Amino acid sequence: MLTVHGIRLTNIVALLVLAVCVLMAAPASGSVDIREHHRLPLENELQFLEDPEGGQDLEDVRGRDDWRQLDGHTFNRGYSDSAWWLRVRLANDGKTDLERFLSIGYPVLGDVRVYALADGQLRNSWQLGHDYPYSQRPVDHRFFVVPLEWAPQETLDVYVRVRTDSSVQVPVTLWDRVTFRSHDITANILQGIYFGAFLVIGVYNLLLFFALGERNYLYYVGFVFSIALLMASLTGYGFQYLWPGATQWNDQAILIFICGVLGFAGLFTRRFLELNRLSSWLNGFALLVIAASSICAVLSFFLSYFSLISVLIPLVVLGCMVAFIGGIYAWYQGQVTAKYYVMAWSFVLAGGAILALSKGGVLPSNFFTDHAAQLGSIIEVVLLSFALAQRINVERQLRYQAQSETLETARRLNRELEDRVRERTQELEELNQRLNELSVTDGLTGLRNRRFLDAQLRQEVDRARRTGRSMAVAMLDIDHFKLVNDTYGHQTGDECLKMVGEIIRANLRSPQDTAARYGGEEFAMILPETDEEGAMRVLERIRQEVAAASISCEGVTLQMTLSGGVTIQRDAEAVTPEQLLAEADGALYRAKSGGRDQVCVYRPSAS
Ligand code: GH3
Ligand code: MG
Ligand code: MG
Repeated sequence: MLTVHGIRLTNIVALLVLAVCVLMAAPASGSVDIREHHRLPLENELQFLEDPEGGQDLEDVRGRDDWRQLDGHTFNRGYSDSAWWLRVRLANDGKTDLERFLSIGYPVLGDVRVYALADGQLRNSWQLGHDYPYSQRPVDHRFFVVPLEWAPQETLDVYVRVRTDSSVQVPVTLWDRVTFRSHDITANILQGIYFGAFLVIGVYNLLLFFALGERNYLYYVGFVFSIALLMASLTGYGFQYLWPGATQWNDQAILIFICGVLGFAGLFTRRFLELNRLSSWLNGFALLVIAASSICAVLSFFLSYFSLISVLIPLVVLGCMVAFIGGIYAWYQGQVTAKYYVMAWSFVLAGGAILALSKGGVLPSNFFTDHAAQLGSIIEVVLLSFALAQRINVERQLRYQAQSETLETARRLNRELEDRVRERTQELEELNQRLNELSVTDGLTGLRNRRFLDAQLRQEVDRARRTGRSMAVAMLDIDHFKLVNDTYGHQTGDECLKMVGEIIRANLRSPQDTAARYGGEEFAMILPETDEEGAMRVLERIRQEVAAASISCEGVTLQMTLSGGVTIQRDAEAVTPEQLLAEADGALYRAKSGGRDQVCVYRPSAS
């Protein structure tokens, strides 16, 4: 079943029908029989007049004849310095006593006085309004409520005088007490949900701020609490529960909390939409709103409510425009989370517009239109909270992406570095190998040098001893080489050395054989696994080839011979490399002394 204000729609229709009937049957005096009504809005019954100076009292206005009938809408005069009087005649046509509540449902009125007259005599009067301490109220309620009592067949004239800094809105309703209380329970539950939601969202986001350290959470929390406190001020809950004695604060609270909403919304929006990057105009306006609202908050201690509210209302309009246009622009510029931001503000603007239209009489006043601003604000706050979370999420993703890109770059650099190091190492190894090679190679002939031969000979001696195979070591020396040098010059001598080297190299049979330039024009050879016969064959061939070769130089053809000595390491013989060389040298000496151009074998008996 559809309910509005906690009352079934059918009941309202019934009430309206009844109201029309009652009106048609109303006595000429204009009194309303209230017996049948549980809840009776008095918009059609009230008469009103204006006291521009505010100096007239009850007797003065009772004597005036310029009372006008209200047109069926809530009494609304906007901002006005005048005192406004309303009156209504309420009759109990029954035979029993009656009790009713009269409520004025606009809690920010400053000075409200209610007078009840029976038979032209003042029976009761009350001073209400938030200019008076809360404890003074006859009924403990955030609205202004007075209890009225009728004897059977009695008529009451009720006068209400309102003078306020806020806008003059006086929604007067007559209630039976049970209906009033049950309606109140529903309203309080809904308002409790509203404020509870704000409290939870505010506290939760405050904790998020402490956890994440992201400043925008703090702005958002300021914004949320400002809205909640503003709404508490406007609905009267603030005065009822938070500051029941602080009558001075009531008007100022509204100003300060509007400034809070504006300032924090500005701070939040600037940061959320990154206005400084987006547009210098929008950023400028946002800064203007922030600065102006801060100044207004300070000025609220010195200036009147009216003068400041007339500055703040245009500022609110400007703030909403900046937020809304900024959001759409940021969305258009590709900020993904800006769309939630725009949606959030759309709800507030829609809520504000609906409220304004219902106050202006364009839309009917009902539960939905009365609470449109509250509804819009809670949807906004929830959406903004979501948008903020999304935004932080997007930023975290971007950070993560940047991080992994950095990591990837570092990895790539590392790989490149490793590749370069590997290349360099390889180059170095090659270089080393070449250096090694060079260090064991004779520069002139390309044969091994003496150092290499000495090392190699040591190894081969060991190996021959292990394997028991015979090995030959030979020494070769060019005959009368000094003569060549002396006759044709050192250069020619070198050419001869090279040629001999080539001949020796060409006669090596296997990679195991080693030939080295041992010194000046002397050469040495190691022939592993070679017996005397084999060694002699090699050396003879070298000797013959050298003898047969001729080298031409400066028109002269040059002929050379060489002599050789060879020794064989036989199995199990405990000989040293030095000994083998000495033996080969000994054989060479024999070849030289035997007439040169020949190869001799070392004979132990001969030494
Ligand atoms: P023999 O038949 O007795 O060996 O007579 P020889 O002249 O060869 O005598 P010896 O071995 O004493 O002489 C070595 C000469 O070899 C000395 C030097 O002029 C020459 N010689 C040594 N090393 C080099 C070299 O690197 N280049 C050149 N061009 N000559 C060298
Ligand atoms: Mg020599
Ligand atoms: Mg010689």
